[in-house]
Amino acid sequence: MSLPTPRPQVAALPAYVPGARGGDGPAPIKLSSNESPYGPLPSVVDAIAAGAAQPHRYPDMAATALHEALAKACGVQPDAVVAGAGSVAVLAHILQAYTSGGDEVVFAWRSFEAYPILTAIAGASAVKVPLTADARHDLDAMADAITERTKVVLVCSPNNPTGPSVGAAEFAAFMDRVPGNVLVVLDEAYGEYVRDPASVSGDQLIGRYPNLLILRTFSKAYGLAGMRVGYVLGPAELLVPVRAVVTPFSITEVAQTAAIASLDAKDELLQRVAVTVAERDRVVDALRAAGWDVPETDGNFVWLPTGERTADVSAALGALPTPILVRPFMGEGIRITIGAPEENDALVAALGELGA
Ligand code: PMP
Repeated sequence: MSLPTPRPQVAALPAYVPGARGGDGPAPIKLSSNESPYGPLPSVVDAIAAGAAQPHRYPDMAATALHEALAKACGVQPDAVVAGAGSVAVLAHILQAYTSGGDEVVFAWRSFEAYPILTAIAGASAVKVPLTADARHDLDAMADAITERTKVVLVCSPNNPTGPSVGAAEFAAFMDRVPGNVLVVLDEAYGEYVRDPASVSGDQLIGRYPNLLILRTFSKAYGLAGMRVGYVLGPAELLVPVRAVVTPFSITEVAQTAAIASLDAKDELLQRVAVTVAERDRVVDALRAAGWDVPETDGNFVWLPTGERTADVSAALGALPTPILVRPFMGEGIRITIGAPEENDALVAALGELGA
């Protein structure tokens, strides 16, 4: 008897590898998932508690209050934003809305590991353009990779997992080369951590290009990874098909309330981001001084191109009396999230001991 068969793309999907969470042993230092090390603000906890009062009711399907709050915060009309259950879900909706079999999605590689998975789920083909030797997007090569089959180009700035952000001037030159019928998605999941004034900034680009979408999340700077809220900004007509494929009721009432409270607490949350940025610079300097080769980073993480040593270095960190959990990419390198100051001290000490 034959069994039902899935779509071939699904059978061939690469697995998404989540950052390690730790087991039964000593409480680890968790630097594996690019989360904020800081717990929720009291105002956000209050909002979550209020939102949790009615779990027997469906959430507002249109997330009206959240869209209005986002539109106000971003200086756009509510029809120029679509929220979803995490920016990874929003990106899945974008690819579902704009691509299908035979279409190509161009992105840098290595970049966010969900890109090839979401591309394959949508039924499209991934075109991976290698990063430069200094771990940056090669935007010229990405523009060269566009064919008549290309429907979407994903640009990740800062790039997860390697760190560099894309320059504003190189992005503008790239956009000049992209045909108007190709959708560009600028993924700014870590945008709040960027300090290089020459970097691209979605805020400056809103309304500028008719084929550009800007993807953002509450999971990093806003400290709501567990609540699952992300959003896309762009021209209203480009977002109509995205809104049409959003899973109904997927942003819970608790998540909507928490996101709105976090927008209200933006200044306080961005102060925490500033602490993380200062820590990032301290960690990068200390690791370079210890001989580690660390590319520029504008995110809340650093990349160590450990190559063949990747498994050994991450295992050694995980075997410490207080284990340090990182995100290894076997044979390539290790991504390490910037944690709280004492966590970073432990990391720097451990990597100093291990030696570059
Ligand atoms: N984009 C990038 C570049 C990311 O690194 C992540 C999270 N790892 C996301 C999007 C998705 O984040 P979320 O779904 O939590 O909003």
